[in-house]
Amino acid sequence: MSIKLYNTLTRRKEDFTPLDPDRVTMYLCGPTVYSYAHIGNARPAVVFDVLNRLLRHHYKTVVFARNITDVDDKIIAASEVSGEPIDAITERFTDIYNEDMQALGVLPPDIEPRATAHMPEMIAMIAQLIETGHAYESDQHVLFSVTSYPDYGKLANRSLDDMQAGARVEVADYKRHPGDFVLWKPSADGQVGWDSPWGRGRPGWHIECSAMSARHLGKTIDIHCGGIDLIFPHHENEIAQSCCAHPGTPFVRYWVHNGFLTMNQDKMAKSVGNVLTVNELRKRVHPEVLRLALLSAQYRQPLDWNEDVVQQATDRLDKMYCTLRSVENIQLSEDELTPGEEMLAALGDDLNTPKALAVMAKLVSRINVATDDDERRVAKAQLLASGRLMGLLELPLNEWLQNCQGRALSSEQINALVTEREHARANRNFQRADEIRQQLTDASVQIEDSNEGTLWKFLQ
Ligand code: AMP
Ligand code: ZN
Repeated sequence: MSIKLYNTLTRRKEDFTPLDPDRVTMYLCGPTVYSYAHIGNARPAVVFDVLNRLLRHHYKTVVFARNITDVDDKIIAASEVSGEPIDAITERFTDIYNEDMQALGVLPPDIEPRATAHMPEMIAMIAQLIETGHAYESDQHVLFSVTSYPDYGKLANRSLDDMQAGARVEVADYKRHPGDFVLWKPSADGQVGWDSPWGRGRPGWHIECSAMSARHLGKTIDIHCGGIDLIFPHHENEIAQSCCAHPGTPFVRYWVHNGFLTMNQDKMAKSVGNVLTVNELRKRVHPEVLRLALLSAQYRQPLDWNEDVVQQATDRLDKMYCTLRSVENIQLSEDELTPGEEMLAALGDDLNTPKALAVMAKLVSRINVATDDDERRVAKAQLLASGRLMGLLELPLNEWLQNCQGRALSSEQINALVTEREHARANRNFQRADEIRQQLTDASVQIEDSNEGTLWKFLQ
């Protein structure tokens, strides 16, 4: 079974083949920890978590690294405003980020390197870039010289001439080319900094990922992912640094980027002022609903966030959990939990999560129309195994059902409950049948048993 991924570098879908099938490597640029993650920031974490799960299904060992950017001008600025020490801010928001992601069902990364713990690696890489003529010192800064790397601009499909022409007038005068970017910058007295051959200072953002991915995953990594806003300049600069520091060795084999989460078609971003933080959202919407909503669009497409998206995700989960409850009596062993070919094909096709959700909906219908327990058993096993790949349906049934109490039922949910009640009665499980009747009554639904089956209507 193959996995195809759209590679931003080659601009086409490619068959994924790892460099070493016994050790697949994946790197995702992680958060800058000075404030809460918004639901747009959660999109890469969640969609690439599905990729991580899919890779783990196919390969024995996957090493997934997601870094923590804990040194950055925005963190320094936040500390200056609030007076809270930098370490306290970064520790607090690292914990909050990890709690939020855990709530969204994101598996923890195998390695979570922090930038501040990798100064020697960054300093060594910068020194090497200077030595080989790819970087230069200027006015206490160290800059990468973009003209020293002929492939600069290839990922983003931009030429140096365009960059020169598009450069603003106020380019810092210590730069030889307007596209040159900072590898090291000076820190003022009292500002956070580390000793280096170029004076006390701190690294630029891009060098962090080059140094940490090489240190933990090796010079060549299989998959590097992030949002499309990172293609330029961040990932373009990572390529320039890593390829020049390790000449002749490819840096990344598949570049994979997610599209934006928007609100009324505007990118969700702090600078736009339209952010919904995961921390706030999950107080009023179950985090599994948030996760399903994030997976309801294919990851490269834009996803417009609104109440309908959330409501649809809620309805889908209600339906799946209600159906699972109707087959609660079927006990499955771990070995039986294998996803079907159709599910693997959907996810293997550049993570087509909308199609994967449609496959899960089909399995729900199969359970509901099945005429015997063997059929139900196979469909339940496939549904749960598909859920595992998507990071869904892993809650104890009761937790979900408690969560949906008091919510009006959709007609699909009512149909699922009515079918479940019919099964319960057929199996002489009258206690369960009565519970369902009560649940329907509580939701103002009246049922009537007739020769044609159970009829229902809303009470006025
Ligand atoms: P930032 O904190 O801006 O560096 O973003 C962290 C991650 O979230 C990066 O991979 C960004 O590409 C991604 N990201 C930020 N905003 C959005 C958005 N509105 N939609 C999707 N991804 C986003
Ligand atoms: Zn990065």
